Amino acid sequence: MKKLFTIFGNPVSHSKSPLMHNLSFNGLNYNGCYTRYKLEDGSKLRNKFFELNIAGANITVPHKEEAFKACDELDWFAQKVGAVNTIINRNGKLYGYNTDAPGFLKAIEEFKDVKKILFLGAGGTAQSTSVVLRDVGYEVTLLNRSAKRLERFKEDGFKTYTFDTFEDNIEYDLIVNMTSAGLEDEELPCPIEILEKVIPNAKACIDVIYGKDTPFLKFAKRYNKPTKDGSDMLLYQGVIAFEYFTNHEFSFEKIENYMKRAF
Ligand code: NDP
Repeated sequence: MKKLFTIFGNPVSHSKSPLMHNLSFNGLNYNGCYTRYKLEDGSKLRNKFFELNIAGANITVPHKEEAFKACDELDWFAQKVGAVNTIINRNGKLYGYNTDAPGFLKAIEEFKDVKKILFLGAGGTAQSTSVVLRDVGYEVTLLNRSAKRLERFKEDGFKTYTFDTFEDNIEYDLIVNMTSAGLEDEELPCPIEILEKVIPNAKACIDVIYGKDTPFLKFAKRYNKPTKDGSDMLLYQGVIAFEYFTNHEFSFEKIENYMKRAF
């Protein structure tokens, strides 16, 4: 019987996930089909899951925290992060995973000798990745436009700055744009004076926005720094989710080989 998978979110029309997963299902001859479902009320997620008889799902904005609550069992990453982006139905029990954080970890693996990371931005993506990065030994500092969003990071023991309080005498190995600046505009994530201080000392600059040469990446290239956009992060979270969907029947490389054709 064909297994049904979906992505729950609001909005979901822009999501690349159906294409990514269907390419891999087809390529690997797996009897699965991946759709999209616009879910307005996140508290209905668990009921919808059973009502639609779904084998597995991804969850995107704004329901990752509701998805966390909807699960019966949670993996290490999901517990650390407090958010779930992948759910599997095993005999009527919902198992929740977070594949965003390991996806990001894999995406930065190629940059060697990295210890200190500066996050520009302190939203949901920064939240889910910072805790996990710290747990595996990186030192994460956050710089954000508003002080409000930094509060929970400060409480959690992270070093945080706003544009006004930033100390520019510290060197960082990686600078990561975790904001949505540059997504639909031509803005830099922080004042240019700060970038002029931190980028020259960095080993590489990364943007989580994908498929676009953002102002941040363009700026980093002026310093001849290695750069990378968010495509690998998106791809790897998808590959890891697909491994769960198919019960680790296929190797990471085989899944990646088909899934990357979506990019
Ligand atoms: P949130 O809405 O949770 O947070 C947005 C962050 O961006 C805040 O820190 C906000 O600062 C900052 N910000 C927004 N506009 C500006 C600006 N003009 N100048 C400076 N700071 C700004 O967003 P998410 O964490 O959910 O998403 C962040 C980015 O990550 C998005 O671009 C999204 O597309 C991308 N993303 C990529 C993924 C991938 O797989 N590659 C996965 C998930 C997200 P303030 O507090 O001051 O408002």
